[in-house]
Amino acid sequence: MKGFAMMSIGQTGWIEKQRPVCGPMDAICRPIALAPCTSDVHTVWAGALGDRHELILGHEAVGEIVELGSEVKDFKVGDKVLVPAITPDWNSLEAQGGYSMHSGGPLSGWKFSNFKDGVFAEFFHVNDADGNLALLPEGMDLADACMLSDMVPTGFHGVELADIQFGDKVVVIGIGPVGLMAVAGAAIRGASEILAVGSRPNCVALAKEFGATDIINYHEGDITEQILGKVGFVDRIVIAGGTVDTFEQAIKMLKPGGKIGNVNYLGKGDYIKIPRVEWGYGMGHKQILGGLMPGGRLRMEKLASMVTTKRIHPGKLITHRFEGLESVEEALFLMKDKPKDLIKPLVIL
Ligand code: NDP
Ligand code: ZN
Repeated sequence: MKGFAMMSIGQTGWIEKQRPVCGPMDAICRPIALAPCTSDVHTVWAGALGDRHELILGHEAVGEIVELGSEVKDFKVGDKVLVPAITPDWNSLEAQGGYSMHSGGPLSGWKFSNFKDGVFAEFFHVNDADGNLALLPEGMDLADACMLSDMVPTGFHGVELADIQFGDKVVVIGIGPVGLMAVAGAAIRGASEILAVGSRPNCVALAKEFGATDIINYHEGDITEQILGKVGFVDRIVIAGGTVDTFEQAIKMLKPGGKIGNVNYLGKGDYIKIPRVEWGYGMGHKQILGGLMPGGRLRMEKLASMVTTKRIHPGKLITHRFEGLESVEEALFLMKDKPKDLIKPLVIL
């Protein structure tokens, strides 16, 4: 089969590989919708995970099942399915301990385009099909469906990690597709104010539509000064963009007892600096949690139900549409170059 792969750090290309083998609990799917992720960009061009050779990229897909293992109970060949970017081993001790995304080792629930071939291919393999896949709801738009793989669960996980409560004053740093879903999630969680940090005009417009009450442009001066000047200290911060230095800015604008939820994939830099004084000399009760999105079927089904009941509209993230597997290459390079009018591309097969 044909697939679009990371050849080595900084290099991509098309390769031919054997179609993956289906184990007893697994599924083989063909993609019917695909999206590239900023994480693919960090992996290839920043070498953030280390080198990978001829590893097929991509972890955001809607699929159609073409083959099933003998032990799979709840799906049949021909079913159209939502595929989470993170596909844990549900019988692992890490999953039993509540951290399924780290099943088998740190970040090891993230298999596609990390430890095994991803979804940018004619076929892809899904481990533990009953535990990880969810049926595509009747009539769901493929743009909404594909954003359920990663953008919705990751943005919402930032909100969960920051533990946003009714009436909280919230900052969302980064309003690419992940941060935009964090804005939507913060609004649903009852934030009173949502200050969204970003600059691309499409992202700014959608942030306002999803519930941002204020926009902070990080090109127009230090965000901490801008935010403190506007609203004072804040209760909760979701980080979905920026660099290792963003944590310093976040700690400086957070109230004692405040919480930071990071979902940004830190592609560069060895250390994160925490400012001693603003972290209360070590006694400020300012928490930082960073996490990989939770995957799995229940999560997919619950998030999908929020689309069907029109609580969220993740398909609005799509600004660029392509057709055919070959165009994942162009879509990925668009993600790398981030033109001003981009939020997220979608490829329909
Ligand atoms: P984008 O690159 O599209 O968005 C990044 C956002 O951060 C943009 O709004 C950008 O502003 C803003 N930004 C950039 N630099 C700064 C800065 N110095 N200070 C403040 N804001 C800044 O990324 P995505 O939304 O696609 O992804 C966000 C992150 O989430 C990525 O690191 C991605 O790898 C990660 N991710 C993590 C997952 C997880 O499970 N934890 C899963 C999926 C993705 P501008 O408007 O100017 O572009
Ligand atoms: Zn991703």
